[in-house]
Amino acid sequence: MSTTNNPICQLFQIKYPIIQGGMIWCSGWELASAVSNAGGLGLIGAGSMYPEILDEHIQKCKAATNQPFGVNLPLLYPNIEAHIQTIIKHRVPIVFTSAGNPKTWTQTLQAEGIKVVHVVASVKFAQKAEAAGVDAIVAEGFEAGGHNGRDETTTLCLIPMVRKAVQIPLIAAGGIGTGEAMLAVMNLGADGIQMGSRFVAALESSAHALFKEAVIAAQDGDTLLTLKELTPVRLLKNPFFEKVQQAYAAGATTEQLQDLLGRGRAKKGMFEGDLNEGELEIGQVAGLFDKILSAKEIIEQTISAYHIALTKQQPF
Ligand code: NDP
Ligand code: NDP
Repeated sequence: MSTTNNPICQLFQIKYPIIQGGMIWCSGWELASAVSNAGGLGLIGAGSMYPEILDEHIQKCKAATNQPFGVNLPLLYPNIEAHIQTIIKHRVPIVFTSAGNPKTWTQTLQAEGIKVVHVVASVKFAQKAEAAGVDAIVAEGFEAGGHNGRDETTTLCLIPMVRKAVQIPLIAAGGIGTGEAMLAVMNLGADGIQMGSRFVAALESSAHALFKEAVIAAQDGDTLLTLKELTPVRLLKNPFFEKVQQAYAAGATTEQLQDLLGRGRAKKGMFEGDLNEGELEIGQVAGLFDKILSAKEIIEQTISAYHIALTKQQPF
C-alpha cells in the first residue's frame, strides 16, 4: 500500500489510514496521542466529557504529540456549543461528528480550517453527509460496539453500497480489528479503517482495567444490540444486560426501560469497572482479541498483517 496516494492519509496528513474511534470513557488524550504518535489518527471521545475536561484533554494531547489528532463529537451531546468553541480555540485540526445532522456544524468548523468527518450507518445518511459538505465519511456496520444504526446493515454490505453512492473518502468501521479485515474492507471500496473495540483493550485506553480484561475474555456471541427503543447500543452480556432482557420478556414500556437504564451506566461499567451494574459497550470483534497491547503494537501488527494478507491474495 502506498500511503502517499491514499486519500485518508492525504486528508489528515498521517502515515497509515487507521483511525482510532472516539469511544466514550475509553479514549482520552493518552490513547489519542499514542495512536497519532504511532502513525494513525487518534480521536478524543468528547461524548463523555464536560467542557472543562475536553479542554484539559486537548491540551494534554497537544503536549503529548506533534502529529495530527482529532475530537469525536456526538451531536446529541448536551453542551455541544461549548465543545465546538473549545475545539476552535485550541485549533484542533480534525473533528469526527456522529449521532446527529451533519448540516448543523460542518460549515462552522470548516470555516475555521477544520476537517470534518461524519459517521453514518446507512447509504441515505452517507448521501446526506456528502451533501452537507463533509470531507469524509465513516460508514459503520452492525458489528460495531456502542451506539449503532437501527437498520442492522453489516459492514460487508454497507461499505460497497456506500462506495457506490458517494464520491468522498470513505472510512470503514464495525467489526474491524486486524490487518486482514482492513484489506477486506479496502477491497470493498473503503480508503481507510476506523477501529474502536481493538483500542478499548489498548494499554493507553482510559477504560477500567476490569473492562479491558472482560473485552479480552469475550467470545463470539457475547455481545448483542439492545435498547432499540431508546438508542440502539451493542453491549457485552453481563448482569445489567440480563436485567434488560428480563424487562423485555416482562413487556417493559419505553419509560420502564429508560428508568432501568437510569443515568451514567456507561461510566459505571467502562470507566469505573462495575462489570455487574454498568453498561459495557463493545463490538462483536472483541471475540478475536487475546491480549492487551499498546496502541503502537496494535497499529504495527495491523499494518504488518495487512501487507502479509495482500501478498497471500491469489486468484483461483
Ligand atoms: P489524570 O491522571 O489527570 O487524573 C486522573 C483523575 O481521574 C483523577 O483526578 C481521579 O480522581 C480521576 N478518576 C480516576 N478514576 C476515576 C473514576 N473511576 N471515576 C471518576 N474519576 C476517576 O487523568 P487524565 O489526564 O487521564 O484525565 C483528566 C481528566 O479527564 C480526569 O478528570 C479524568 O477523570 C477525565 N477522563 C475522562 C474521560 C472521559 O471519557 N470522559 C476519559 C479519561 C479521563 P481522584 O484522584 O480524585 O480519585
Ligand atoms: P447518560 O445520560 O446515562 O449519562 C451522562 C453521562 O455523561 C454521565 O456519566 C456524565 O458524567 C457524562 N457527561 C459528560 N458531559 C456531560 C454533560 N455536559 N452533561 C451531562 N452529562 C455529561 O449518558 P451516556 O453515558 O449513555 O452517554 C453520554 C454521552 O455519550 C452522550 O452524549 C451520548 O450521546 C454519548 N455516547 C456516544 C457514544 C459513541 O459511540 N460515540 C456511545 C454512547 C454514548 P458524570 O457521571 O460525571 O456526571
